[in-house]
Amino acid sequence: MEQLRFFAEPQNRIEYLKNEINKSNYKYYVEEEPYLSDFEYDEMFAELKKLEEEYPMFKTPDSPTLRVGSVSEKFFSHKHKYRLYSLDNTYNAEELKIWYERVCKEYEQELELVCELKIDGLAIALTYENGVFKLGVTRGDGVTGENITPNLKTIKAVPLKLFEPKNLEVRGEIYMPKTSFEKLNQKALETGGKVFANPRNAASGSLRQLDSTITAQRDLSMFTYTGIFEDEIDNKEIKTHYEGMQKLRELGFKVNPNIRLVKNIQGAIDYCKEWETKRFDLNYATDGVVIKVNNIAIQKDLGFTARAPKWATAFKFPPEEVSTKLLDIELNTGKSGVVTPVAVLEPVQLAGSVVSRASLHNFDEIKRLDVRIGDTVLIKKAAEIIPKVIKVMETNIHASLPVYKTPAVCPSCGADLVERENEVGLYCSNPKCPQVVCAKIEYWASKEAMDIDFVGPALIKQLYDRKLISSPIDLYKLTIDDLLTLDLIKEKSASNIYNSIQNSKTRPLNRIITALGVRHVGKETADILVGVFPSFEALKSASFEELCNIEGIGEIIAKSVYDYFHNEENLKLIDELISLGINPQAEEIVKSDKLEGKTFVLTGTLSTMTRDEATDLIKRNGGKTSSSVSKKTSYVVAGENPGSKFDKAQSLSVIILTEDDFLEMMK
Ligand code: NAD
Repeated sequence: MEQLRFFAEPQNRIEYLKNEINKSNYKYYVEEEPYLSDFEYDEMFAELKKLEEEYPMFKTPDSPTLRVGSVSEKFFSHKHKYRLYSLDNTYNAEELKIWYERVCKEYEQELELVCELKIDGLAIALTYENGVFKLGVTRGDGVTGENITPNLKTIKAVPLKLFEPKNLEVRGEIYMPKTSFEKLNQKALETGGKVFANPRNAASGSLRQLDSTITAQRDLSMFTYTGIFEDEIDNKEIKTHYEGMQKLRELGFKVNPNIRLVKNIQGAIDYCKEWETKRFDLNYATDGVVIKVNNIAIQKDLGFTARAPKWATAFKFPPEEVSTKLLDIELNTGKSGVVTPVAVLEPVQLAGSVVSRASLHNFDEIKRLDVRIGDTVLIKKAAEIIPKVIKVMETNIHASLPVYKTPAVCPSCGADLVERENEVGLYCSNPKCPQVVCAKIEYWASKEAMDIDFVGPALIKQLYDRKLISSPIDLYKLTIDDLLTLDLIKEKSASNIYNSIQNSKTRPLNRIITALGVRHVGKETADILVGVFPSFEALKSASFEELCNIEGIGEIIAKSVYDYFHNEENLKLIDELISLGINPQAEEIVKSDKLEGKTFVLTGTLSTMTRDEATDLIKRNGGKTSSSVSKKTSYVVAGENPGSKFDKAQSLSVIILTEDDFLEMMK
């Protein structure tokens, strides 16, 4: 009796975890609508595995720890010739070492490992007979998958015929590039179509379409990560996984270029660390690193558990998506007067940092997601982007929470909020709104614009509150004595601030145009504008048609620029700038035309300059840059660890330049 009570708790917990995991498997694999983040799922899975090890009497044959994925009834099912497995995983380097020790122990030597990026997509198995693609099946539950051959045939990275007439089965991951995912969702937002939570769901949803013409319209690709060679000669020749991958590449498969052979687990841990941040530069989602024993004979000897190979494991990156509670929705008024809702969250660890705020974009997005204060929301972070709320998790309390009411007045000054023609969002109707005025001054002083050191939000707020400034121009009228009246400002810092403001008077015209905050005109557009109209006078006299004729300037921007330079208040402001000694000259932007007519695509990390600097260099020499490779691309500049653009350049026979070639070209 006593013992029964002791076991009741773990048994209940095991049952609870099994139910939750089965439910989320169905949502994730079949409905493509996960309601847990991967991190939360993995935590539950690890807890279940641990409890089953501690209490083996409660481990049942139907446990999800013994199974892989799930199959839907949407397609014809197909029994796999060779079983497909999942991978054990960890978020922790120490556990990687334990795995490695266990694997090496039997062989009394350090084993070579292969590290590959773990592509976050959908696993598939492709059968080739005499080099011809015959059959493509999803992983499903590992034993049986869905036959999706016609859909796979629409994907360019799935070769229909190999360079040699081989018999083999390859496994790979189908994925959707991040940029295509963003575009697909943007279109869905505009047309009321299905919005996907992440590129993996988008890839899965696009691939598992009953109508393959829909799949064909989606930009899907594949990285191949394993081949099972059936011809004896291949099996004799290919002794390691790494060699197998080279062979697959020779046969025409797309193999991820970042694959690396390492001597031991430390090499693998270094690889994991390196890619934890570098992965954000890739145009495809990765959720970790797969580490595989290189020697195929040892792989065979080690074999499999019920669910995963013993010779491989996955190191998962810290989560990029996690769920947390929405405590409040804060409203911010920006320099254009637009009021943006910001999610205030229960602090949570996300991709290596603690997050307590996330973007909600605008009030339409709140309506679309039906976000309510008190909800549990899924947030996502990609290194360069601030976290955003991507979905409301299904909970019992959601329905009982009050629907969020869009505000009617500005949170800063109380003026009415209004809509603007052709703009998304709500705007403060008061041009003198303190928040708007301060945000404009902050932007003026920012790195992107006039780059005034020491002049940040706190200082601007103090200056505004003390009525010392009410526009960017007032900064230039400040005296050292004015600055000395501020809290915590002593002589040294007052003179630093003063000098920094005065020095900014010599900034070139493109920076001043940026700083003015003309609607739709950021740094890039300002560069283009002053390249054609290199003075205030020239800009003032430019006609709408002339502005429209500039390459890279559309009608909306042209109208905004034209209106700005025909507004009396703005013209007064420009005169005042000039009278204050701000006498802008256009920066020499185009240095040469040696790259005229040439389009460049950059991939990988350059060692001597950032991507922005390389882009600038190309533009200054009359060339253009593009984010994707096509037949029209003149050159792809490949730095270290290039991404999929490198493969695409190879497949389209576009010239690939090393960084040295590129620098040579600039001389
Ligand atoms: P997995 O995705 O963690 O790992 C196995 C898969 O990795 C393989 O099947 C293969 O498709 C893929 N892979 C990518 N690159 C690879 C490479 N280079 N070499 C080998 N394989 C590579 O395991 P899984 O069984 O597909 O799914 C389990 C995972 O899915 C969980 O850990 C969780 O993250 C997620 N999941 C989430 C939910 C949810 O509700 N959020 C539900 C179910 C599963």
